[in-house]
Formats: sequence, C-alpha cells, structure tokens
Amino acid sequence: MGEFDLIERYFKRPAKRALLGIGDDCALLQPPDGTHMAISSDMLVEGRHFFANVDPRTLGHKALAVNLSDLAACGAEPLAFTLALALPQIDEAWLAGFSQGLFALADQHGCELIGGDTTLGPLNICITVFGSVPAPAGKSQALLRSGAQAGDDIYVSGHLGDARLALEALRGKFDLPPALLLTTRQRLEEPSPRIALGMALRGLASAAMDLSDGLVGDLQHLLKASKVGATLYTAAALDRLAARTHVDWANAGISDDAALTCVLSGGDDYELLFTAPPSAAAALQAAVLQSASPIHCIGRINAGPGLLLHDKNGRELPTHFTSFDHFS
Ligand code: ADP
Ligand code: MG
Repeated sequence: MGEFDLIERYFKRPAKRALLGIGDDCALLQPPDGTHMAISSDMLVEGRHFFANVDPRTLGHKALAVNLSDLAACGAEPLAFTLALALPQIDEAWLAGFSQGLFALADQHGCELIGGDTTLGPLNICITVFGSVPAPAGKSQALLRSGAQAGDDIYVSGHLGDARLALEALRGKFDLPPALLLTTRQRLEEPSPRIALGMALRGLASAAMDLSDGLVGDLQHLLKASKVGATLYTAAALDRLAARTHVDWANAGISDDAALTCVLSGGDDYELLFTAPPSAAAALQAAVLQSASPIHCIGRINAGPGLLLHDKNGRELPTHFTSFDHFS
C-alpha cells in the first residue's frame, strides 16, 4: 500500500462543513459569518507523550482530544483539523484502530479532517485544529489567559491528577485496585475535551486555559499573563482527585504527598482552569449545568504577585510546593 492509498483508505472522507477537503493542495474553510478563527497545534511523539505499545484507537482519540482541549480553553467551537503523520511502516491494523479512535471523537464534536501530510519516519502525530469564536462587531469572545482580576475565584472542571495516578501505576509505582486503574487509565488515554464548558464560559470567565502540564505550572502561566497572584486551596484541589473517595491510600502505596503531587503537578488532565468574579457565580453554575462538566472553586486571585498554597487549615505550605514534583 502506498501513501495515497493509505490516505484514501483511512483518512479521506467527503467534506461536509469545509468547502474543500482532502485531495487537493489546500483545503478551503469558511468560518461562520461574524466569527474569528481559533487555531492550535499539538504534537504527540512516541516515548515522550505515549508508550510505544499504546492501543492505536486510544492514541487516535488522544491526539485529537489534546488539540480540542485547546479550542475548549478559548471557548471555541470546533470546525476542522489537519493531521500530519510520520509512520515507521504501513501497519494496516494500527491505521484502522488509529483512524477509528480519531474519527469517533471528531464526529462527536463535528470536527472534520480536511488535510494533512504523511511520511515515513519515527511515529509522530501532529494535529492542527480550527475552530470559531463569535466576534460580534469584530470583537472576539475568545477566552484568554490574561483577564484574571484580583478577587476573582479560581475554578477547575472535573477531576485532577487521575492521569498521573494511572501513569505512575503503569510505571509500577502504585498498586491501584483494578477498577480504579481502569477509570484513571481511561482518563490518561482518552481524555474528554471540555468543549461544551468552554463555550458556556464565554462572557462569564475572566480568564481561562486548559490543564495539560499540571495545575501549579499551568496556573502560573495564567497568573503571569494576567499580571496577578493567587492563593490555591490545596485541600479543595486534592478533593478533585477522583480516586480520593474510593481508594485506601496507604494500601495502594499512595502517600499524601504523592496524591498531592498528582493533583498539583500531574499533567495530562485536560480539564479547564478558569477565573470569574464572585458576582458571576450563580450565572456560572447555571451555564455549567448545560455543559455537563462539574466545576469547583479551588482558589482566589490576589492583586500581589506570587502563588500561595494553603492547606486545609488555611496555613501556608512551604514555597517549594509551588513547583514540587515528588516523582521527578
Ligand atoms: P502535497 O504534496 O501537495 O502537500 P500530499 O500529496 O502530501 O499533498 O497530500 C495529498 C492530499 O492528501 C492533500 O489534500 C493532503 O492534505 C492530504 N493528506 C495527506 N496526508 C494526510 C493525512 N495524514 N490525513 C489527512 N489528509 C492527508
Ligand atoms: Mg501540493
């Protein structure tokens, strides 16, 4: 099978939303009237972002999911994506699984594959997504990292740390009960981009981003962009570790510090981190009900710079916690 048969067989589908899809030198995309285009790329490299033996179906899902998560962070609605693939060989079973996982998620979000590139090489997957955000009178409603204000509450969606918990279990660090390994591993390998939540947050959140590299590190990017500081309630954040409610920590070999590490610096969460003024709290809860992603307040924005971590008694944790990672 050659390059063009491969594209034809596994990736080419009729364009529905795009004016022109796969097969020409360029695709053609018409963003809806009165919108701006939101664009983001993410690359997944074998050994760095995924294990060599990972199920190709979940890999197809995740490659697109991490990109859609960036659109969610901006409050954008997905339109289309391109796929640049380097493959060590043509493995049809792998391609069938990969494209199945990819298109299942793409269809869920009405996001259409409109082009890409295919080459021989070490396994590498680069996706670029295109989305739209309303821009009435040319003023974009995209959510940015830079709008947080002193006094705003800090929220996260869903759960934190699950993916890291699964990763450490797969590396043999923890001995998770089978049911918990299954759910956390699904969170690691098949994250759900919070598209509906991101769209619901337009006009309500003062700043937003998605969590890919870990809460503490990512939050500091938002603080820097907004030129503010923050107090993070670590107990509230720790409550977001899904496992917390139904696992015997000590028996699974998970210390409190290890659990906190998963939550604060875990990475691969693909939840949304955002800020909003307390006056928006009721409207937020109403908007969130529609999006089916629960949200939780885990901190507050301060006028002064720096990130403070408070424990459950409101006491400040040592500053090394703001960048700590017990596994690295
Ligand atoms: P060119 O050489 O002109 O850049 P290619 O021959 O690489 O184009 O690709 C032919 C067509 O197939 C183009 O429309 C391109 O966008 C599409 N394509 C190539 N690889 C992929 C892929 N992995 N997924 C989707 N479309 C692809
Ligand atoms: Mg060309």
